[in-house]
Amino acid sequence: MAFTNLHTSIEYLKGVGSARADLLRKELGIRTLSDLLHFFPNRYLDRTQFFKVNGLLQNSAEVQVVGKIVNIKTVQQKRGSRLVATFIDDTGTMELVWFRGVKWIKESLKLNTAYVAFGKVNHFNGTFSMPHPELELVTEYKKSLQTAMQPVYPSTELLSKKGVTNRIVSKMIQNLFLELGNRFQENLPVAIIDKLHLISKGEALFNIHFPKSPQLLTKAQQRLKFEELFFIQLQLIRKNMIHKTQIKGYVFDTIGDYFNTFYNNYLPFELTNAQKRVVKEFRKDMSTGAQMNRLLQGDVGSGKTIVALLTILIALDNGFQAALIAPTEILANQHFIAITELLSEMDIHVKILTGSTKTKERRIIHAALEDGSLDILIGTHALFEDKVQFKKLGIAVIDEQHRFGVAQRAKMWMKSPSPQETSEPNEEKAATNNQTKVTAPIPPHILVMTATPIPRTLAMSVYGDLDISIIDELPPGRKQIITAHRYDSNRLSVFKFMKEEIAKGRQVYVVYPLIQESKKLDFKDLMDGYESISREFPQPKYQISIVHGQMKSADKDYEMNRFINHETQIMVATTVIEVGVNIPNASAMVIESAERFGLSQLHQLRGRVGRGAEQSFCILMTSFKLTSDAKTRLETMVATNDGFEIAEVDLKLRGPGDLMGTQQSGVLNLKIADLVKDGAILKRAREMAFELLKNDPNFLDPNNLQLKRTYQEITKNKAIWANIS
Ligand code: ADP
Ligand code: MG
Repeated sequence: MAFTNLHTSIEYLKGVGSARADLLRKELGIRTLSDLLHFFPNRYLDRTQFFKVNGLLQNSAEVQVVGKIVNIKTVQQKRGSRLVATFIDDTGTMELVWFRGVKWIKESLKLNTAYVAFGKVNHFNGTFSMPHPELELVTEYKKSLQTAMQPVYPSTELLSKKGVTNRIVSKMIQNLFLELGNRFQENLPVAIIDKLHLISKGEALFNIHFPKSPQLLTKAQQRLKFEELFFIQLQLIRKNMIHKTQIKGYVFDTIGDYFNTFYNNYLPFELTNAQKRVVKEFRKDMSTGAQMNRLLQGDVGSGKTIVALLTILIALDNGFQAALIAPTEILANQHFIAITELLSEMDIHVKILTGSTKTKERRIIHAALEDGSLDILIGTHALFEDKVQFKKLGIAVIDEQHRFGVAQRAKMWMKSPSPQETSEPNEEKAATNNQTKVTAPIPPHILVMTATPIPRTLAMSVYGDLDISIIDELPPGRKQIITAHRYDSNRLSVFKFMKEEIAKGRQVYVVYPLIQESKKLDFKDLMDGYESISREFPQPKYQISIVHGQMKSADKDYEMNRFINHETQIMVATTVIEVGVNIPNASAMVIESAERFGLSQLHQLRGRVGRGAEQSFCILMTSFKLTSDAKTRLETMVATNDGFEIAEVDLKLRGPGDLMGTQQSGVLNLKIADLVKDGAILKRAREMAFELLKNDPNFLDPNNLQLKRTYQEITKNKAIWANIS
């Protein structure tokens, strides 16, 4: 049978059948011939190399050995039985072991017949053993083509249990190529292929499965990685373009009294160049008539708050209200205090709304929002509640946006009741039916801010549809925080150091981990720590604050305020202080069990010090037992203060999925490209996608016909759109 359509189910492919088709679909998501073609090996093995039993080494990777089975026995064990075959060659003896499918395998094994056994070897009690080897009769082996780069496909436990081995998958793909010949449609425009010297789609597919040479394999990988990233970038950039043409936004064309008065009279310092640049970027966005949808990235302490405030003042100048949302009550409070202070000489009405705002105050706020007399509302999640409605919300600033869900952010869109005439934000529909006019409110401009620097490659993928601004410069005069790693056994010298700092008039944080799974234990650690610090730093000479998640918010605030007002010298806390807290006189931080924190968390925590003019310190306390990842994290923290550098290391250690959470997995679930290693290809892909969309946003050029088809297929099947921003 010759296949004409790659969307045919794999069931009809030689060597598959309905049971295997079912299994492949459930286990690997492979349904169609096309899926199978795009199911790529994750590595390649040299099958021209043979080992002798006496040449096996502990921890060798996969090896193949030629020999015979001379004995088979079944060993009963607690759960089920184990099949052990004695396998010999002319140099020695090893064992082949099976834990699953024992009965079936036992029946199929032939004694005293030459086999090639292939698998990973273990070394135990002086014997080498190979669990679940792939066995092939030497006579069969000689018939099949063996190469120095045999593909190894990803597999699952169930697949190997059901006997769908790597060899079988490879055969299926061989059959598919035999059926298809070399009839593959090129889906990248010739201009791009030429410019980047890419190999054709057909050649790439063939060589990824059956590499003719290492050089061709590399070329195949490059071509397929590029293609994968390119189509993702096309989607993201196109989403951004459509957004700009279809989602209307208020036009803020006035820079008026509020902004100018504040800027000329009350700005407490000169803005850094980076701050000036991003304010300009926001201004430009908010004057186009499209909704601003921007991400502001800036390391801890880079001065995002003032930038947010200036943007808010532009909204006020144009007759609108503004909202500033923070993930915690402490942080919202701090923003409120800082902003009321900055605006104290100006006639601007600012309020705060959090979970602990009293009902009476809430009513006042709701009313003032709706009659427009309240200019700026600062708060927490409480702002997302449907009851909170603005008269004219012009901008919503969301601080530490990674702490909020997508749905929560979307809620801010609905807070502004003024209607507009607009076509539906779907250009396909709008193009076919010009009459589809719907009335929708104009959403406020959205500015999301993050102090967790995101590696460039990730930002391009996950936030590729947003416009991104970066503050890449710290305010002048900041000293680098000196960071040291100390073992628990050095505690006395750490206490001594704390005393010296306190004697100089400084304040010190001592931070304990609080991790969800082991809450009770952590809490005990925190309390034990608090006690030992209380003993070491006795009253009345020393005063200590303590803040943790299980305290009532009023108590928390009380303790926090004592520290802010310098009534206490030491703040013992869990990670509740991680985000945003700004106490310039606190210049030292001791982080307990630092090995248990992730890199970005450590960096965030450390960002609480180094906020004043004094030299600041961060001491990372750990036990002696450290994993190699933990060592890398600690070394990185000691070596650098640069959040972007730290984020790159974090990406390498944890991979993109863990770094961003599962939310964006749609964009991060890559088949072949790797965001850690393929940054250069990604950059290229993004440039090319930009250029193409600039010239042909709707893929009307006949040269882009095949590209258009692929694009439509991808977006039809799984729109990544819904998953992002
Ligand atoms: P983050 O970006 O972490 O939110 P903040 O906005 O809290 O940083 O700013 C950190 C500190 O730096 C604040 O005390 C703020 O007043 C100060 N700051 C911000 N911009 C400047 C500047 N251009 N010059 C001097 N100090 C600044
Ligand atoms: Mg901040």
